[in-house]
Order: sequence, then C-alpha cells, then structure tokens
Amino acid sequence: MRNDLELLLKLQVIDYDLGELERSKDYLPDMMGNLDREIKEAKTQLSDTTKQLEEARATHKSLDLELQTREAELQKYQQQMMSIKTNKEYDALVAEIDSLKEQIADRETRVLDTIELIESLEKGIGELQEKESQVVENNQKQLHILQEKMDSIGDKVASKQESRQEVTAAIPKPTLSVYERVRRGRGGRAVVVVKKGACSACFKALTPKKAQDIRRRDKVYTCDHCGSLLFWDDEISK
Ligand SMILES: [Zn+2]
Repeated sequence: MRNDLELLLKLQVIDYDLGELERSKDYLPDMMGNLDREIKEAKTQLSDTTKQLEEARATHKSLDLELQTREAELQKYQQQMMSIKTNKEYDALVAEIDSLKEQIADRETRVLDTIELIESLEKGIGELQEKESQVVENNQKQLHILQEKMDSIGDKVASKQESRQEVTAAIPKPTLSVYERVRRGRGGRAVVVVKKGACSACFKALTPKKAQDIRRRDKVYTCDHCGSLLFWDDEISK
C-alpha cells in the first residue's frame, strides 16, 4: 500500500507537469507577442525620429536658400540706393529694404531653431539606435528560446502521457478513481501531506486514530472533511 501512495504522488507530479505544459500553450505565445511588439516599437521609434531628422535637415536647407536669395536682393536694393533720384523712389526702396530685413531676421531665427532641433534629434537617434539594436538582439534570443519551448510541447506532453499511463496502470482502479475525483474537485492537488496532525488541504485536525492509520500506511486514507488523499511524512506530520 505504501507503494500506491508513492505512485499517487508520482502521478500528481506528472499531472502538474501536464497542466503546466497546457498552460504554456497560452502564455508562451503571449510572451512572444510582447517581445515582438517591443521590437516593432523600438524600430518605429527609430524610423520616426530618422524621418523627423530628415525633415529638419530639409527645412534647414530651404531656409538657407531663402536667406541667400533675400540677402542678394538686399544687396541689390542697397546698391540702388546710390543712384536714387526722387523722394518717392527713396521711400519705396526703404520700405523694400525694411521688409527684406524683417524677412531675413525671421529666417535667421528659424535657422537657429532648426539647428537646435537637428542637434537634439541627432543625439536622440544615437540613443535610439543603441536601444533598438539591444532590444532586437535580446528579444530575438528570447524568442528563439521560447519558440523551441513551443515546438517541444507536443513531444513533452506525449512523453508525460506515456509515463502517466505506466503509473496509472499500476494503481488499483478504485484508488485511481478517488484520485481523479478529488483532483477535479480541488483544482489539481489530490494527494496532500498531513501537517501537525491535520489535513494540509482543508486544515481540519485528524483524530489520533486516523493519524495513526495514515502513519501505518497500510492503505490509502482520505480526509473525512475534504476528501483529499493523505500521506504521512515523519518530518512534518506530527
Ligand atoms: Zn482535508
């Protein structure tokens, strides 16, 4: 009978492992999805910032061109000032020059702002590139490991099922059906240890007589209160 209990404990471990394998079919794809998403996010962040930098550089270039054009015009007008003949001409030219100077000052401010933006984007891109390559490297390594785990689930389940069949074949049918019933009812754990003279599933104290019986291990006993299959361990049961 001592043997039955050992087989039941062995069966419980196998069933726990089978449950874990079943659960991993759900959580492994979730974990892999998260790792994939992290890679995509890092790549998007980098490409968005690269695009912003390209746009800022293009803006800088066109502002520079606008500045050059207006400065050339200003020079032209300033030369015309030398050969001015009437007051009316003078007033018109001064107005043109004032307007150009305003436009030039505006472009100069915008050029400075753009340069500042370019510098900060360049700095940011360096960090993002580093982050992206780290995320890609780390996550791909983990994805590879998780994929291997996923791929091996089928084989592991099959081999656990095989061990399960060997173990259950050696357990008497009535004992096995008690195990199955309790396991379904208690969400997995059917065989529990006696702890300080009580059932460790429901914590109800056992009668001294029952504790003695369990200790003797002449047959498989169940808890009167919760139905768990009980076993004695000299270290913790007393
Ligand atoms: Zn109990």
